[in-house]
Amino acid sequence: KNRDPNEREFHQAVSEVLLSIKPVLDRNPEYRSACILERIVEPERVIMFRVPWVDDDGDVHVNRGFRIEMNSAIGPYKGGLRFHPSVNLGILKFLAFEQVFKNSLTSLPMGGGKGGSDFDPKGKTDMEVMRFCQSFMMELCRHIGPDTDVPAGDIGVGAREIGYLFGMYKKIRNEFTGVLTGKGLNWGGSLIRPEATGYGAVYFAAEMLATKNKTFEGTTSLVSGSGNVAQFAMEKLVELGSKPVTFSDSSGYIYDERGVDREKLDYIMNLKNVRRGRVREYADKYPEAVYTPVNPDSDFNPLWNHKADCAFPCATQNEINGKDAANIIANGIKVLSEGANMPTTPDGIDLFLDGGLLYAPGKAANAGGVSVSGLEMSQNSMRHGWSREEVDQKLKTIMKNIHKNCMETAEQYGTPFNYMNGANIAGFVKVADAMLDQGIV
Ligand code: NDP
Repeated sequence: KNRDPNEREFHQAVSEVLLSIKPVLDRNPEYRSACILERIVEPERVIMFRVPWVDDDGDVHVNRGFRIEMNSAIGPYKGGLRFHPSVNLGILKFLAFEQVFKNSLTSLPMGGGKGGSDFDPKGKTDMEVMRFCQSFMMELCRHIGPDTDVPAGDIGVGAREIGYLFGMYKKIRNEFTGVLTGKGLNWGGSLIRPEATGYGAVYFAAEMLATKNKTFEGTTSLVSGSGNVAQFAMEKLVELGSKPVTFSDSSGYIYDERGVDREKLDYIMNLKNVRRGRVREYADKYPEAVYTPVNPDSDFNPLWNHKADCAFPCATQNEINGKDAANIIANGIKVLSEGANMPTTPDGIDLFLDGGLLYAPGKAANAGGVSVSGLEMSQNSMRHGWSREEVDQKLKTIMKNIHKNCMETAEQYGTPFNYMNGANIAGFVKVADAMLDQGIV
């Protein structure tokens, strides 16, 4: 904390992992003597750069670009790019740190990284976004490559941005390689990649429900966010017989008691992905739904205060605080699977673990996205594409295995059903052992 005093989210992510792995360190003194902890919290490399770009009126803007190359013990750095005004070094370090353990859990050979910019794509024209992406890649291109560091999307970086970034990389390097994932289907992308994070979070929750001999059939779910992860979580929930009754954006949330069905989901996808509008408009189209704007003075989020069986936070970090967690438990929710990264504050997690709710931390539950990114890398290397069914089947198997690994590890360390401990310990051991094997580097 003395070294990086202003990196609140990074400290939060590190504290959670350190608490979980204490028994591992006690059993394995070699991790301490090789300074694995001191090394694993220090990025292998941090790249920060200027991103100048010109808007449609000819005015010049300067944003800050980042890439955190956190850990390459088990594979090339891999992790998304986030474009959002809140982006800073501490947020990206937390995301890169989480990514190391998440990628380890996937069982695929991927190290951890994360990057992005404080650029806000909201309200910008396509041409402005393109010029920004080109300027960003002009610098980033010298640090990445298909065997070095393979970025993907995250908040504010979807298919459009990946296209512009890839186009510029290809032009500068004169090579067509799998340097980014989340690419378009007809130029190297993988089927199921857009769906993978949301689907994966639901597959993970299905595994948790199965431990109690339950399924999604006839259940009600709360979802937050309305971007990539939220949309496909809702799609899979509808398919498996659950009724999503909430979703949100940064301006407010929708409660639709009748539930989002296929037709309504198509409307949301068009609204968010094509028109780039706000969720408020859903309540104009479907008058049975209630829109509640964000109240900046409130100390809880009313989205989490509805009766339901399952919950899927899919917006952003720390969107569930202690009060929200208490509401979630009081409303009878039995399963919570994190589509977003670190959406629950530490006091919220404590309540979940004490409250008997089945709680899946993001680094396990949302690993489906990076898993299919890993599959996209394999397909690019083979110059071959798998069918939708093949990729979906592989995704299901990976999520099943992550669930099993977390569950067994939690049990092995005397904390049954504590998926947080299971994920942190299992993710850590694989990376730490690889670091031991590779010497002090
Ligand atoms: P998108 O940009 O597609 O959507 C993000 C959604 O969250 C939007 O509805 C957005 O609202 C809302 N949101 C973002 N920031 C805030 C905020 N500060 N307060 C309230 N709402 C906010 O991103 P993704 O769906 O890709 O990402 C969502 C989460 O999932 C993130 O935590 C991300 O790190 C995580 N994740 C994503 C993966 C992926 O494959 N895409 C993989 C693993 C994790 P608005 O439209 O108003 O901005």
